[in-house]
Amino acid sequence: MSELQILNLGADPHERGLVHGRTFPDQIRENVEIYLNRFEMAGSPRDSVVQGGHDWARRIMAFDEEYAIEMAGVAEGSGLPLEQIAVLNARYELTYLSTLSESMAAMTPVAPVTPTELEDRTDGCTAFAALPEVTHDGGTMIGQNWDWLADLRGQCFVMRVTRPDRPNFICLTQAGIVGGMIGLNETGLGLCVNGLISDQDGKDLTQRPFHMRVRDIMNARNMNEALKAILSTDRNTSGNFLLGHADGEVIDVETAPQAANYLYPTDGLLTHANHFEVWNGIKSMLEVGGPSTLYRSQRLRRLLEQRNGPVDLALVQRLLTDHFAHPYAICRHEGDDEPMGNKKLTVASVILSLNDQVMYASDGPPCENGYQRIPLAA
Ligand SMILES: [Zn+2]
Repeated sequence: MSELQILNLGADPHERGLVHGRTFPDQIRENVEIYLNRFEMAGSPRDSVVQGGHDWARRIMAFDEEYAIEMAGVAEGSGLPLEQIAVLNARYELTYLSTLSESMAAMTPVAPVTPTELEDRTDGCTAFAALPEVTHDGGTMIGQNWDWLADLRGQCFVMRVTRPDRPNFICLTQAGIVGGMIGLNETGLGLCVNGLISDQDGKDLTQRPFHMRVRDIMNARNMNEALKAILSTDRNTSGNFLLGHADGEVIDVETAPQAANYLYPTDGLLTHANHFEVWNGIKSMLEVGGPSTLYRSQRLRRLLEQRNGPVDLALVQRLLTDHFAHPYAICRHEGDDEPMGNKKLTVASVILSLNDQVMYASDGPPCENGYQRIPLAA
């Protein structure tokens, strides 16, 4: 069984970045290559993307000095230029640059996206939440399969941050990205994320990047602060944030750059994938190129509803290996029709037990690998 590495980090942001960079220099270099190659294939020459990395580094510093210092530590520790690390940390928004011509800078609005490009654009995922009234232990459980580039398998790790001044947290991330993806903190908060695409995306790329907001949520001391991290400013791109709390609360926030929708559990359950489920005039677009989202969320919900007895770890682990419509299933595998370099799979499957403060994570598709237990407390 392959396992995700766990990196224990402390309170000093520069030291955190330095250790991160020194521990995973090869993975970080490879991740930079993976994204630069993708952007180049889509029409953004690597030199112009890297050049734009200077702008992202400056913008990130203006938003949050601590994040910028940690990012600089990653650059120093890995021996890579800061602008390349900044590109990784803005990779979620840089996806929208791939139709820009070489001469355009990072702050220029992007051209419209064609439907066939859409599924390539962002991470697919199937997420769930279960409230205390349906769980075996009366706790809150959230989780997801994170479906993204097959090349990223083995390129991720779990950071465990312990510090006196802010909440301790554990968060799954791609090596080189400070902000992370999926995690929980000691105040009882947990976060899962799903890629979304709308017709509003990428028109203004001057807002706080997606991965910074994930770190903001790991820093949050309560649900109110976590929601502010998502909502207090406009966003560059669309995305779905499924927030859970150990005290039995779950709120799912579907965001477009200038709009947001809110979903709440019904009968103790909530599921979400990669299309907007609430209509408010936003054109939801990922399903045009990746229609599997239209059954993944509903199917996971139905399978959870059809359970015998309470929702427990064994049940959700089994459901996250569901192969309906393989390979475009909840447990995603590489498609024969996907070109090399653009194949997708479940890079990681993650279940967060918010009351125990434990992450269960599978490195790659969960049907091929077991879940390792990663507690917040080292
Ligand atoms: Zn599978």
